[in-house]
This record gives sequence, structure tokens and C-alpha cells, in this order.
Amino acid sequence: MNGDYTLTMRDGVGVVTCDMLSPLPVRHGFTTRLGGFSDAPIDALNLGFNRPEPRAVIESNYKKLCGAYGVDYNKLVLVSYVHGTDVLEVTKKDCGRGIKDGLTPLPDCDGIITQDPDVVLFTLHADCSAFFVVDPVHNAIGLAHAGWRGTLGRIGEKLIRKMHECYGSVPCDMYAAVGPCICGDCYEVSRDVGELFTAEFNDERLIKPHPNDEKVYLDIRTAAENAFIQAGVPRENVGHIPCCTFENEDLFYSYRRNGRGKTGAMGAFLALGKDKS
Ligand SMILES: [Zn+2]
Repeated sequence: MNGDYTLTMRDGVGVVTCDMLSPLPVRHGFTTRLGGFSDAPIDALNLGFNRPEPRAVIESNYKKLCGAYGVDYNKLVLVSYVHGTDVLEVTKKDCGRGIKDGLTPLPDCDGIITQDPDVVLFTLHADCSAFFVVDPVHNAIGLAHAGWRGTLGRIGEKLIRKMHECYGSVPCDMYAAVGPCICGDCYEVSRDVGELFTAEFNDERLIKPHPNDEKVYLDIRTAAENAFIQAGVPRENVGHIPCCTFENEDLFYSYRRNGRGKTGAMGAFLALGKDKS
């Protein structure tokens, strides 16, 4: 699977990208914690609104990210993540929802799709993964927030199906990339959850033994990539950004590592069109 990635620094703001998506007519990225204004212990580029710091600081972080990467802050649309598998289509009339105070957030959804060049899809993460889907033939994109529940519920396939319904996209034209997440050496889950995965994806290699017999280590990234291939995306068009959020404290927030109140959130963005800056 394509695991090449690039860490770019612009104006001090660090963003990682999947090299497989770079030639496509889209802008995408997954933020690191580098380059924002948040104080310790959440330093520095926290994008999660439900964190113990002033909203003005978080908005400054968004604006710095957007300025550095040529993304229009006013066009962001944020999923209303609930660890489900619902996918919604969004257009420019939804811009600002989930981001701006005073606008109604989107209804419950963990995935959003669009064919509108005036929309920037946005999701938040703190160990959970981002799924980026691009259909360059129909100029359509989809982005999802996926923890174990979303991955097990095949939210990636649901993005693809919704893009087919709304835009006529077909999986053989698509590209799918999985963002940074907690890796298969670090992600402890109960044995029950691990066995749900090996059954759903018919692959025993997704789990590894844990010193505590009640637990296993789960490789959620490989499960997600398998799900995209099973949904019809060509194997050569499936990739990931191989960073582990739990292991890289300098670069990423990790809810598992630092816990509530001490960790911020990274953001993933995906928009049609190339960076003009
Ligand atoms: Zn790891």
C-alpha cells in the first residue's frame, strides 16, 4: 500500500500529506500540533472547540492554518462527529457550520461529501483517523472521521456509496487515503472489539496478542485500507500516512496518551482545486 508522505512547514505550521493524493486536483492535509497559539499542555495548534481554552485562541489557530495553506476559513464545513457512519452531502450554503459560533452545526454525521469547489471539508482527530476519498473523474471528494466504530461500520464504503448516489462516482476511478492514527503496536482494545474486526474483515492479522489476555492490539489502519479495496477502490489507489499519533508526541495529539483536558485535536481538510498561493 502507498505509505509515502510529506511533512510540510509553512509559516511554522506543520501539515502532513499523502504523496499518492498530491498529483490529484485537490488540496488536502492533516495538521500537526506545530505552529499554533495554544498554551501548554495543549500547545500549540489545537483545533478542537471543546477544549479548556478560550475560543478566540482556537479561532486564531484555524486562521493561521488557513492563511499558511491557502484555505479559505470562511469555506470550512466540519462534521458533527458522533462516532457513527452517517454521510451527508454539503454545499456552499453549509460553509461555516460546525466552525462558526451562531451557525447550526450539521446534523449527526461522521462523513461529508461535496462536488462544490467553494467548500473545504474538515474533520477533527485525536487518535481517530481521517479517510480522504477523491474521484478525479467526477471532481468529487469525501472526508470522514473514523475511530474503531466508524472503521468497523465501513464508513469509507459509505462515503463511496454516497458519492455514487449523488455524483455518479464509481470506485474504480477513486483514490482513498487513511490519515495518521494510533498504530497496530499501540492501540489496545478489548478482545471482544478485536474479534469483531477479525470477523468483519476475515483477517486474523488485524490483531496481535497483548500481555493482558483480555486485551489485544488492533491495526485499524490496515482494516480501513482493506475495506476500501473490498469496496472496489483499486489497490494501487489506496494509501495512508504512516504516522502513529500515540508515538509521536512532538507532532501529534493523542487522547490515549494524554487524556481528557490535556490534549488538543488535529484537523484534516480536503477541497477541490489546487493551491493558488
Ligand atoms: Zn504506534
